[in-house]
Amino acid sequence: MDLEAHLAPYAAHSAASRGRRFSEPSPASRSEFQRDRDRIIHSTAFRRLEYKTQVFVNHEGDLFRTRLTHSIEVAQIARSIARNLHLNEDLVEAISLAHDLGHTPFGHAGQEALNTCMKDYGGFEHNLQSLRVVDELEEYYGAFDGLNLMFETREGILKHCSLANARKLGDIGRRFIEKKQPTLEAQLANLADEIAYNNHDIDDGLRSGLLTSMQLDEVDFYARHRREVEAAYPGIGGRRAIHETIRRMINALVIDLIQASQARIQSAQLKTPDDVRNAPALITFSDEMGREALLLKRFLRENLYHHYQVNRMTSKARRIIRELFEAFMQEPRLLPPDYQMTTGAQAQARKVADYIAGMTDRYAMREHRRLFLVDEI
Ligand code: MG
Repeated sequence: MDLEAHLAPYAAHSAASRGRRFSEPSPASRSEFQRDRDRIIHSTAFRRLEYKTQVFVNHEGDLFRTRLTHSIEVAQIARSIARNLHLNEDLVEAISLAHDLGHTPFGHAGQEALNTCMKDYGGFEHNLQSLRVVDELEEYYGAFDGLNLMFETREGILKHCSLANARKLGDIGRRFIEKKQPTLEAQLANLADEIAYNNHDIDDGLRSGLLTSMQLDEVDFYARHRREVEAAYPGIGGRRAIHETIRRMINALVIDLIQASQARIQSAQLKTPDDVRNAPALITFSDEMGREALLLKRFLRENLYHHYQVNRMTSKARRIIRELFEAFMQEPRLLPPDYQMTTGAQAQARKVADYIAGMTDRYAMREHRRLFLVDEI
């Protein structure tokens, strides 16, 4: 039975895939991309997402998004849109669930700190690390390292990449050099990520008290939807008002993305998935909505990501990552045996980066205490 018969001709089909790095028999009861999704869910790196965060560190509160709930929200939004556009839902789901697997503890602060530590050893990019997790670091299967995912899933996970790294990656890096597009599914997962975090960061920002609704009113997109909610439910307040506002914002973004993308796909007259690669980006917001999304992003950057209370945690996080890295590089014997390398500083540094990047927020804090406090074991 063809599980992908309902897809548009320009959607990614298993049968037209560039395949897996190690060939395997086709699954009996699932599509190839369903199998990828299942492998991702069963991986160790996926379970770690529960204790990794973006803006708020895990112990700051139980109700904030973690990378796990963020990834699930991304998958939900991406699948809804994919179904409307007749794209491959299984592929967008696999990409969405895997897109943050390579993130360090402590979100962007952790990533920047690790990149700085690694500057003489080839740097550290979280997208590339996500690919490294699914290609090499997961140790689950007898026949290969990593999860041996389909090319299109791996390509979607590697959403950005420096040119220097792209040149080292062969096939999967080529599109960055040739400036071509990935599948529509990859383009979609990328924007679903943006829709998810812009909205849930507003929600978490309000919940934490670092943002106020009054302050958010300077973003017209928010103010408009908030007023709509108050008109529909006079006297509504608190969590309900916030949730009703945010669900309208997500909905508006999703509908705009579907309509704008549909129009672009139509005018590009796509026939095959390969036409997608040679076309400009086709999964996009309308120009108007693109501007609104940008203003929202800018507001969050200025008012939440750089809020002084967030800065304090960011600063601590940077220090923890840097001190862990320096301690392990100076004394590799402090590392678990699997991470000790005898083949030079370059290889040792990469192993240290893998070890640190794999840590959850709380594990990194505990490891830091174990290394630096005499009475902690
Ligand atoms: Mg993300």
